[in-house]
Amino acid sequence: MDQIQEILNQYSILLFCYLIGSVTFIIGLKQLSHPDTARKGNLFAAAGMTIAIIATIFLYRNNHGEKLHNYLWILGGLVIGSIVGTLTAKKVQMTAMPEMVSLFNGMGGACAMLISLVEYHNDVTPPTGKLLVIVLGMIIGTISFAGSVIAWGKLNGRIKDKTIPGGQIINFIIFAAIIVFAVMVIGGFMDDGVTPYLFYSILALAAVYGILFVMPIGGADMPVVISLLNSFTGCAAAFGGFLYNNPVMLTGGILVGSAGTILTILMCKAMNRSLKNVLIGSFGGQKAGASTASKEQGSYKEISLSDTAVLMAYAQKVMIIPGYGLAVAQAQHACHELEKILEDKGVTVVYGIHPVAGRMPGHMNVLLAEADVSYDKLLEMEDANEQMSGTTVAMVLGANDVVNPAAKDDPASPIYGMPILEVEKAEHVIVNKRSMKPGYAGIENELFFKPKTSMLFGDAKKVLQDLAGELKQL
Ligand code: NDP
Repeated sequence: MDQIQEILNQYSILLFCYLIGSVTFIIGLKQLSHPDTARKGNLFAAAGMTIAIIATIFLYRNNHGEKLHNYLWILGGLVIGSIVGTLTAKKVQMTAMPEMVSLFNGMGGACAMLISLVEYHNDVTPPTGKLLVIVLGMIIGTISFAGSVIAWGKLNGRIKDKTIPGGQIINFIIFAAIIVFAVMVIGGFMDDGVTPYLFYSILALAAVYGILFVMPIGGADMPVVISLLNSFTGCAAAFGGFLYNNPVMLTGGILVGSAGTILTILMCKAMNRSLKNVLIGSFGGQKAGASTASKEQGSYKEISLSDTAVLMAYAQKVMIIPGYGLAVAQAQHACHELEKILEDKGVTVVYGIHPVAGRMPGHMNVLLAEADVSYDKLLEMEDANEQMSGTTVAMVLGANDVVNPAAKDDPASPIYGMPILEVEKAEHVIVNKRSMKPGYAGIENELFFKPKTSMLFGDAKKVLQDLAGELKQL
């Protein structure tokens, strides 16, 4: 009797720990939505997760009332995972963050897949709801794992975009085969000797599907795909939650699944494209008849550092438009330094932030927050555009696509329809980049050839540091 009471007590404590975990996830996620609280939110959710993990290790009991016993394996996994995770997260450059997110997401998918594989061998007999959850978790987890690894390879340039002839038809056939096999396995329509073969065929087909699904998608669309795969992993983890009757896994999975879905939708909206267009379109490639790339652009004019310094020092208001190049150059601190010098000279400085500037949502906000740029100075695109006409100098730092007027003016352009920062409305436009090469969408930018625009060539960090030096002398 005492033993039963003890088990019940432990179960209540376990559930309470899961409740703490679930609540911290929700609060943490809410805090992540603002740069001021994001770091705290991350730590908060991580603390909740730690509580849930420790509670599971010491208090969880399976259906037969047995506790976990293979502590050495668990400890080994925890230690290796923590070391690898900490080192990679510390080492990663901001520009390589989407790659890392993709790889970590893939690991989540792989976990869901492995859970399904293990549980399949724990006497499940069809037809049961448990088998349904196992098979669905495995399919979604495997697709997410395989797709994320391809996305990771594409982002770091190891895998090139590849359109497979008839790829969509092949993918459809594979998908149909997965569904048919899954129905056979879950429904118990085949005899016991054949079912395991079907089960493992589903695993193999899901892996091939994940690879073929991501392979043809353009490199520039990878962040959207990663976000979509992220939502898949969330769903797969939620299935794991059902399987183990584990509320914190269920909550975490649902949160990741829904957050990933919302993010995917927001990113598509910011680029003014449908998800279907992202998945089967060819952003980054040339649309038939695209005129922008080949159009004769005329000549551009350059500006010297000293002229730029004078222009900025006597400006009333400077708007800095950061882009991917600023992140590559790690120029955020130099940028903040320039901002302080200008403000000391009485110039108002603000930042115009495009929602897809950089390579992942919020890239610029995170980067500038790292350099202690005040959040009040960051203007969202709509506000930035409203303030553009009252701006003396729009300083474009390593941005390209997000200020390309073709998105507004050229219906044949691959980025047509994407809202942009309308820098041309400012009195002067200075563009800093290293060359006349195009940005991520691979298209020319007419802005560079406009009479208002002056090009200031060079690495963003070096240019900003030199500019700060010039300004100090004025
Ligand atoms: P772009 O990729 O369009 O342009 C970046 C520019 O930075 C390049 O033209 C490059 O020119 C310049 N650059 C590179 N290195 C340096 C350096 N060291 N110093 C100075 N300049 C440098 O970036 P944007 O931020 O304008 O646009 C983001 C793109 O990514 C968009 O196409 C967007 O749709 C896409 N994308 C973004 C997502 C997001 O969530 N943020 C999601 C999906 C897609 P040069 O080589 O001449 O120096």
